[in-house]
Amino acid sequence: MSGITGKVVALTGASSGIGEATARLLAARGAAVVLGARRTDRLDALAAEIRAEGGRALALPADVTVPGDQEAMVARAVEEYGRLDVLVANAGVATVGPVAALDLAAWTAMVDVNLRGVLHGVAAALPVFRAQGEGHVVATVSTSGLKIVPGQAVYAATKNAVRTFMEALRQESTDGTLRTTTISPGYVRTELTAPPSGADNPHAAMLAFALAPEAVARAIAFAVEQPHDVEIGAITLRPTVQG
Ligand code: NDP
Repeated sequence: MSGITGKVVALTGASSGIGEATARLLAARGAAVVLGARRTDRLDALAAEIRAEGGRALALPADVTVPGDQEAMVARAVEEYGRLDVLVANAGVATVGPVAALDLAAWTAMVDVNLRGVLHGVAAALPVFRAQGEGHVVATVSTSGLKIVPGQAVYAATKNAVRTFMEALRQESTDGTLRTTTISPGYVRTELTAPPSGADNPHAAMLAFALAPEAVARAIAFAVEQPHDVEIGAITLRPTVQG
């Protein structure tokens, strides 16, 4: 038995990259996983694969910018598995470019997905966690919020807004009900940094040393598997050679 066996974990952004790897790992270690994202074909395939290997998984369409979608994920987790132990608020988008490009559409998308998406998830999960007397929010932020670099102003700002929100949530939750964890990965080889379309990828130079998403999944699993009186507040992991 691990500290993961039997837990019910809802993950946003489970259709690729870090979310997918985390869902696979947690399911393999005995969690029931509720997979949310917009590309439901991918979620269905992943859920089927996990079930074929003896795990428990269900897939739901969920756009994190729509508050009701994460409410539905949480409700479905409770309906199907009886409770919700962990929300992994992981969905994210990134557009790299100078502020001077004034790419308002990209800025709005990053705020909507990376920040509002997390707020919607917490709003959906918190009432269940309070009713159970126990719950855990894990949010994927980024090292780009720790070492601020040109070209990532708005992306880093959204990630640091989540970091700030999570610290306040932690301080408001010291009655022992809620654990909060922020995960700050450096460069990870996913569709975010290596989009399938490929051309003019601003992350191309980093891909030579980027981490596999499974490395981040292991960090998330470490936070989840602790007993409830141990809160892993923050984990930063990056390729050893990342500047
Ligand atoms: P991917 O692009 O592989 O995954 C992003 C996930 O977010 C996809 O599953 C995508 O699913 C989902 N997503 C995007 N928009 C929405 C939306 N509106 N509603 C629901 N889901 C959405 O990238 P990563 O795995 O790398 O990204 C996961 C997280 O890790 C993000 O928060 C990212 O910012 C963060 N991160 C990534 C790093 C990296 O180097 N890769 C480094 C640091 C942090 P779909 O399109 O199917 O909806």
